[in-house]
Amino acid sequence: MNDSPETQPIGRGDFVRRASAAAVAATAAAAAAPAPGMAASPPVRPGMDGAQALQALLDGNTRYAQGRPICGPLTARRAELVSGQSPFALVLGCSDSRVPIETIFDQEPGSIFVVRVAGNTADAIGIGSLEYAITNFKSPVLLVLGHASCGAVHAGVAFVQGGPAAPGHIQDVVAAVVPAVKEAEGRPGDWADNAAMQNVKDTLAGIVAASKIASDAIASGALAVHGGFYDLSSGKVTVLS
Ligand SMILES: [Zn+2]
Repeated sequence: MNDSPETQPIGRGDFVRRASAAAVAATAAAAAAPAPGMAASPPVRPGMDGAQALQALLDGNTRYAQGRPICGPLTARRAELVSGQSPFALVLGCSDSRVPIETIFDQEPGSIFVVRVAGNTADAIGIGSLEYAITNFKSPVLLVLGHASCGAVHAGVAFVQGGPAAPGHIQDVVAAVVPAVKEAEGRPGDWADNAAMQNVKDTLAGIVAASKIASDAIASGALAVHGGFYDLSSGKVTVLS
């Protein structure tokens, strides 16, 4: 389905470079027609559903992992984006500098609404940020992305093993992942990576439970939610759920 006319440019990452004045005008005209049941701020890429949006992310990740990204130059859409944004995906990821969201999905500015916090957990401000995007941009997919060798999760494991609390507000970051660390204890394989994957699932469930805006969007079919896990060595994202 990622070969449809609407999704192909996004999946191939060449939306902007190939955008002629006519294409831009056509996009603007299409964007003027709200999607069914949506009052305002229709998506710039009408017709993309959650599955197509997820596939566009995964297609970009494949390009990145294979060392053949095609996005760029990253300033290409700057003028277009002055008047607004219409990201096709929402991603909650970790602050870790090795997991730059747009880079690993080979997407340009304006394509992904990103919330990043160490340990990729969601507090009220994080959820509020996602609700803002769900409400205003109608992005069809939300991906919570954890990763291997996550420092926040490793700190959580050390704490559960009896280590001291981290200084300052760092312990707030650790405390947020401790429930997942405890859930994953004793499972086969690497405790921290298992905990990081559990943390993704818990975070996703927590967002849905805490956010009526998100749960309503899911119930109406306007939003698909998934968990993902990024492998530092291969560069590949695996969809967990
Ligand atoms: Zn991390």
